[in-house]
Amino acid sequence: MALIVQKFGGSSLADVAKIRHAAERVLTERERGNDVVVVVSAMGGQTDDLVEMAEALHEQPPDREMDQLLATGEQVTISLMAMALQQRGHASRSFAGWQVAVHTDDVHTKARIHDIDRENLRTVLEAGGIPVVAGFQGLGPDGSVTTLGRGGSDTTAVALAAALEADECHIYTDVDGVYTTDPRIVAEARRLEAITFEEMIELASLGAKVLQIRAVEFAGKYNVPVRVRSTFGEGEGTLITVEEEAMEKALVSGIAHNEDEAKVTIIGVPDRPGIAHAVIGAAAKASINVDMIIQNQGEHGKTDFTFTVPRSDYRQVMELLDPVCKEIEAEALTGSDRIAKISVVGVGMRNHAGVADRMFEALSNEGVNIQMIATSEIKVSVVVDQKYTELAVRALHEAFELDKPVDERDHIH
Ligand code: ADP
Ligand code: ASP
Ligand code: MG
Repeated sequence: MALIVQKFGGSSLADVAKIRHAAERVLTERERGNDVVVVVSAMGGQTDDLVEMAEALHEQPPDREMDQLLATGEQVTISLMAMALQQRGHASRSFAGWQVAVHTDDVHTKARIHDIDRENLRTVLEAGGIPVVAGFQGLGPDGSVTTLGRGGSDTTAVALAAALEADECHIYTDVDGVYTTDPRIVAEARRLEAITFEEMIELASLGAKVLQIRAVEFAGKYNVPVRVRSTFGEGEGTLITVEEEAMEKALVSGIAHNEDEAKVTIIGVPDRPGIAHAVIGAAAKASINVDMIIQNQGEHGKTDFTFTVPRSDYRQVMELLDPVCKEIEAEALTGSDRIAKISVVGVGMRNHAGVADRMFEALSNEGVNIQMIATSEIKVSVVVDQKYTELAVRALHEAFELDKPVDERDHIH
């Protein structure tokens, strides 16, 4: 008998009929003789509605109250899911994050899980029941409710699977797996049978919303096999796992896009030691994640400094940097929150030159101007004007022939 963690996303729980359907998927797993721990998101659209109300009442809603508010979404679905399971004759018990407890740090709205108590869940499992746990939420060190960042239920599910030493973690969603790119943008996108933790971490961190990045990091660290599959259809979905010989040998595995970032530029920064630290340090102190960083070659003792931050932190970072810029005697602070980051990812590019060039060629053929470039061993990212997002993703999907099976692609040498 195996232990499976099954997580259902918001679109799979959007109304009562869907919750009933998700409960049936839990029962199918039970009928196979497996133990199940269920993790749920809020009903589809609920978290967005709560955010909207908060923003209508406060310019920059305080993080602690935001968590208190957003955690209510998952409290609705745990109880409804437990009821649906009980109606079908199964012992089930719902748990809010603090009732488990899922212990986190104190960084409200993007807390990290430190530790999970297993006892309450084990008691239910040992009695033959089905625990239903609220995703996305935890208990902070001072007793406050915390949340794990948007999409955080995925992380709850994988962290629980690791803590309980589950055999697999199944992420049920509205697509039947991980695709070569967001199937909502490119109809020809192909489902991947399997993908490495490494590639999935890149795709998730570069904007593929199908899994929250921390979930994949956890899965990689604790070697939890994760399967993304459809709540509504059949099929084995996509397995996320360590690199295997049998895996498709693609040069490029997928394309991700991210429209949740903003670009900050400091013009005319004195070119001397300590400047990068003064700027990035100010953001880090406010727990703002800085992503791509570019500093030009200095000229006449001055240089420009550009970086990206999550769009939700854009206003805060601009306010924060205003006094810093004065202090370091920079000429101007500018920025844009109308940008998109488009990335090409694949472990195959390790041994091949030419991926970046093919990417730049495809974008230039479409007249798309590149504002920033970043590369790592297995990815190339560019920042472009947000109005080109879909055009750029489609052009790149075509240029790398991701609509074709791997062995029919024309590999560059
Ligand atoms: P849930 O509510 O189940 O958590 P999400 O909306 O968070 O679902 O994630 C599923 C969505 O992720 C899909 O509907 C799809 O549009 C999007 N997505 C983005 N990139 C990919 C990709 N490479 N493969 C599959 N889905 C993707
Ligand atoms: N309900 C939260 C969100 O919408 C968490 C999740 O769905 O994973 O972001
Ligand atoms: Mg999600």
